[in-house]
Amino acid sequence: MTATRVPGVPVIEDGVMISTNPATGAEAGRLPVSDQAAVGAAVARAREAAQWWQSLGFDGRRERLLRWRSLIVRRITELAQISKLETGKPEADAIVETAAAIEHLDWSAKNAKRVLGPRRTRSRVLTVEHGGHLEYLPYGVVGVIGPWNYPIVTPIGPISGALAAGNAVVFKPSEYTPVLGQWLVDTFAEVVPEHPVLQAVHGMGDTGAALCRSGVAKIAFTGSTATAKKVMAACAENLVPTVIEAGGKDAMIVDADADIAAAADAAVWGSMTNAGQTCIGIERVYAVAPVYDAFVEAVVERAGKLRTGAEIGPITMPKQLDIIREHIDDALAKGGRAVLGGASAVQPPYVAPTVLVDVPDHSLEIRDETFGPTVTITKVADADEAVRKANDTAYGLGGSVFGKRDAVRIARRLRSGMVAVNSTLTFVGVGNLPFGGTGDSGFGRIHGDDGLREFARAKSILVRRGPSAIPVQSYGRTPKHIAALIKTLRLLYGRRT
Ligand code: NDP
Repeated sequence: MTATRVPGVPVIEDGVMISTNPATGAEAGRLPVSDQAAVGAAVARAREAAQWWQSLGFDGRRERLLRWRSLIVRRITELAQISKLETGKPEADAIVETAAAIEHLDWSAKNAKRVLGPRRTRSRVLTVEHGGHLEYLPYGVVGVIGPWNYPIVTPIGPISGALAAGNAVVFKPSEYTPVLGQWLVDTFAEVVPEHPVLQAVHGMGDTGAALCRSGVAKIAFTGSTATAKKVMAACAENLVPTVIEAGGKDAMIVDADADIAAAADAAVWGSMTNAGQTCIGIERVYAVAPVYDAFVEAVVERAGKLRTGAEIGPITMPKQLDIIREHIDDALAKGGRAVLGGASAVQPPYVAPTVLVDVPDHSLEIRDETFGPTVTITKVADADEAVRKANDTAYGLGGSVFGKRDAVRIARRLRSGMVAVNSTLTFVGVGNLPFGGTGDSGFGRIHGDDGLREFARAKSILVRRGPSAIPVQSYGRTPKHIAALIKTLRLLYGRRT
């Protein structure tokens, strides 16, 4: 069967997925589609591989993960070219993205033992005759489902945490970036040839759904909020836990004492990089009145220099163009003004940089994820109003604050998982900082200590070291023992504080 080809839209022909470039339609590669049986077989193989991987211990895994890290670095330009071919994004952006992925691989490999390794815990008074041991054990096989917009760092975040913790991984890349996903798996196999510790399964959403139902012990999902709900529903059938990294509507706040040039530079980068197809992209800016005019002018000046087809790549997923057009039209119809770009900005497969002002709070551009190179700038009286408006969204992923005296205080008040102060997006590439959202942006964390623990289960062992001082957990106990327990509780915890 031969399907009609649209540039960028993957098609399946005779059980083979064909990936194409969104700007030119050039073929990026072909991969066999995994049906339900193939997904099940991959998970069965992974289950065996997981035992071997776990037996290597933290040190053995560290060595191999660091080898993979080094191999990716050596072939970074090859990876960037594949990314450009499949997503259309500039190679330089793929290199910057890879730098963040490398940071997570390096950090997870080097820190898994400290975070997850066995340790003794301090004895507690009521059970002082016991010694505690705690360790974090891998789940076994973790399924990772990734999006297309950052096809390198978004899967490598959970993959590095899951592998460092001792799990095998079955990875379902987005149907828009299967070639890149397979490259990650193939390069891993070059440094870990013994067992299929990291595998890929390819296909459309149904392959992802099959992975959820395949018997994996955990799913790490990155993608839209709508798909996250489907993933959770499928996982619920077998009580499979999930970590959900979903969409966002991140805001930047520009306070009165901000460096306006730096804030404008970051706002343009934060909203336009990757053609705005960034989960933690800045989609809204709230600038306080005294600096508003200067800030808008500086943003327009910088964004106006960006060229579609050069700094601004194509919109990877053609159907997203309709959403971006709808959001711009809706903003203009409701009284917003375009100070750059606007109604004619959408020129498939590109969208020209668009800066919108006076956009009412109930507009789609303010409420829903746009995922294009557009940004709204709203004038607010002060930081309090900025925080109120920034938090008035169902999402809660990242954010940014520019300012001096109160910037960190403002950052703490933003309802989000991460905030960059006097920069933007940077937190995604810091190995020891957890990454994840709240509300419609999801839950659970990748990266950092929390990201490692996400892929392991706590195992507590309590070892008796001597006789109990107050032996109440035995039928040999007497009323005197219970009285002694009450007395001890009163002594320890009963006083009014
Ligand atoms: P989607 O939700 O469309 O897809 C994400 C992944 O889920 C893809 O691999 C997709 O496969 C798969 N999938 C689709 N349907 C199902 C299903 N029923 N069961 C299991 N898996 C399924 O997201 P996009 O790829 O379009 O990515 C963009 C979204 O991701 C944006 O909302 C963005 O904000 C968010 N995102 C969040 C990040 C975060 O860290 N919080 C980071 C990056 C992006 P297929 O592609 O084959 O349909």
